[in-house]
Amino acid sequence: MSVRVRFAPSPTGLLHLGNVRTALFNWLFAKQGSGDFILRIEDTDAKRTDKRFEVQLEKDLRWLGLTWDEGVDVGGGYGPYRQTERFGIYRNIVLDLLESGQAYYCFCPQKKLEKIRREQTSKRQSSLYPGTCRDLHPTNSAKRVASGERAVVRFKVRKGEISFADLVFGKLTVNCREIGDFVLLRSDGSVQYNFAAVVDDVQMKISHVIRGEGHISNTYRQILVYEALRVQPPFFAHLSTIRAPDGSKLSKRHGSISVQEFRRQGYLPEALLNYLALLGWSPEEDGAEFLNSSELINRFSLNRVNKTPAVFDKDKLNWLNRQYLRRLTPGELVELVVPYLVSLKRITLPISPAVQHWLEALVKDFQKYLEKASDIVDLTAVIFDFCPERDLTIEETDSFSIEETSYKVLLELQRQTSGMELLTVKAMEWVLSSIKETVGVRGKDLFHPVRMALTGKSSGPDLKLLVPLIESGSRLNLKPPIPGVAERVSRMLAHLA
Ligand code: GLU
Repeated sequence: MSVRVRFAPSPTGLLHLGNVRTALFNWLFAKQGSGDFILRIEDTDAKRTDKRFEVQLEKDLRWLGLTWDEGVDVGGGYGPYRQTERFGIYRNIVLDLLESGQAYYCFCPQKKLEKIRREQTSKRQSSLYPGTCRDLHPTNSAKRVASGERAVVRFKVRKGEISFADLVFGKLTVNCREIGDFVLLRSDGSVQYNFAAVVDDVQMKISHVIRGEGHISNTYRQILVYEALRVQPPFFAHLSTIRAPDGSKLSKRHGSISVQEFRRQGYLPEALLNYLALLGWSPEEDGAEFLNSSELINRFSLNRVNKTPAVFDKDKLNWLNRQYLRRLTPGELVELVVPYLVSLKRITLPISPAVQHWLEALVKDFQKYLEKASDIVDLTAVIFDFCPERDLTIEETDSFSIEETSYKVLLELQRQTSGMELLTVKAMEWVLSSIKETVGVRGKDLFHPVRMALTGKSSGPDLKLLVPLIESGSRLNLKPPIPGVAERVSRMLAHLA
């Protein structure tokens, strides 16, 4: 049997971790089995569907490298792949089910159904359709519909049990008593998810349905539809819900943001995929944590997918992202951070070779501090523009009191560097050692005030790296210009005066 799986999002919102993980597991499963990964758009909910979300989710999937072999945009032999373009197909199959008595028209007014539902809820009963129209005579019903009466089409649920062997959760069973006759077609002619999904999965020859745990209750209904269509259902694998560390529903509060937002913040697609793969799945034996796409494809298996809820751990994601960022070459990193610097007008396009060279030195110095690419903005803020009044807290400013050696270090730094044409690393080493002698300080007492005067920060890259970076930056003719070392020291002293 050839493997054919699908990711079938409803474009009613942005892609989040949960649905991207579903896409990823489907994709891995397809690639591993040399099968096909299909992208189907389930846009039957006209009120909530928005084309923008469809466009965005396709962008997000492509950014992650989860490209599809068949589906919207790329086509394929089993289209159309957007459900709103398939209404004619659903309609014909509904007519067959009506004809064979496996479905029926229901004329119950919405208001009446809502009242029944409220009563059932108040009695703590599950809300099931009571079957009012189930035994109406089909010919009479057809006449009523032909004369323009509004009706939905319901599926006639059989008696007994429904069971299936889930590839993750094992055998799952429900009694049909718990499933009321559900709607296949709404009165406006639009189709319900449980019906459309089955028709599509059948026609698209889907071999395995891999989706979120929340769909288990739908799977029972869908199996009934497969029975009615006399088609063998595919295999089902449900993925446990991703939860917050405290077991609650995952939300923004726990750092779960849309894929688009992860991208905006400068997460790498490789890191995100690696992290998501480990959310509910683990490789055999060695517990490896770094797995690129091809390793994931080789090692993925549905029987190592865990049925206990996966827990989202933002720190682990950040840690992984940091490791992936560290592997980038300076050139790659520059490419990644340039948009942030451009949007803040710290640099402008096109980038000259001199600026490119300087940016590569900049990212190299800050690479190990980056958790996500956008961190470059805060980390290098004072390199681009240093203003003690704005960048230093009152306590930091106070620590340079006139009696303290820190103040003397600055005065000496100014004296030594003023008039110096080019402050090279060598020259800076000489300056520092002569301050050490004159003021009689060393170690932290020497380096801390210098670092504060140059960057307004108490930690960061080595001064031996920072000084040439600041100096070469100041000669780049950037607009606004980057202040050089001497200017920084003067500004600092003016601020302290
Ligand atoms: N459109 C459904 C969703 O987004 C897909 C469910 C399925 O995979 O069958 O949840």
